[in-house]
Amino acid sequence: MNLKEKNCLVTGGSRGIGKSIALTLAQLGANVAITYARSVEAAAEVVSEIEAKGVKGMSFQADAIDFARAEEVINEIVKEWGTLDVLVNNAGITKDNLILRMDEQAWDDVITTNLKSIFNYSKAATKPMMRARGGSVINISSVVGISGNAGQSNYAASKAGIIGFTKSFAKELASRNIRANVVAPGYILTEMTEKLSEKVLDTIKKETPLGRAGDPEEISNVVAFLASDLSSYITGEVVRVDGGMAM
Ligand code: NDP
Repeated sequence: MNLKEKNCLVTGGSRGIGKSIALTLAQLGANVAITYARSVEAAAEVVSEIEAKGVKGMSFQADAIDFARAEEVINEIVKEWGTLDVLVNNAGITKDNLILRMDEQAWDDVITTNLKSIFNYSKAATKPMMRARGGSVINISSVVGISGNAGQSNYAASKAGIIGFTKSFAKELASRNIRANVVAPGYILTEMTEKLSEKVLDTIKKETPLGRAGDPEEISNVVAFLASDLSSYITGEVVRVDGGMAM
């Protein structure tokens, strides 16, 4: 697989799955910009690791919920690198609780961070991708957006919303050769899942036919394929990468 001369943006690229995606795309020859919310040092370290692979890197402190900032970030990438070919909307959070106990803030924070952010960055990417006569957008959802999960109604709603948004975006932009697909991870080992109790983790493993958690690289390999021209006839697809959990 080859991503040489592709310019990519990964939101939430300072840690976890986003970091792995950024490094995999760079390994395959792409220039990679990342955004992050708070992790200034971690983001600088990711940019160093990207540049060590002989490609260009950039980072932006940019809250994913900020509509205007999304356009600024993408304009800056286009100013520096000429185009944006690949957008990976990865930034996301959880604020889990049962519906009876969930407060309005937890609902709003998760919906805006996980779902509005996808609108912000996808909309801002549309113009440069149309000018470049093509592009690939990959949105990171979750198996929870397909199956639902007790205690994650806000998260599941945001991740299901991503699927509806992506299919609509794919239909609107297909005639411009802009593709959009969803990757829906199962249980992946990152700081996000470190918070889960042993009991919950054991249940997740039992419900996963492959019987184990996934590594971030098992997500980033699929993202790289969808970013590349090898997937040129795939759009509006939802790819589960979940060890069979939601089949
Ligand atoms: P992590 O918590 O490890 O990393 C989250 C990343 O998103 C960080 O880079 C963080 O930046 C960034 N981020 C969070 N909020 C914002 C914000 N408001 N603006 C900009 N950036 C932000 O999460 P994972 O790597 O585990 O998850 C990545 C994606 O994959 C998420 O969308 C998640 O929902 C999804 N996913 C994860 C699964 C898993 O099992 N881990 C399963 C299914 C889906 P900073 O470092 O600055 O905080």
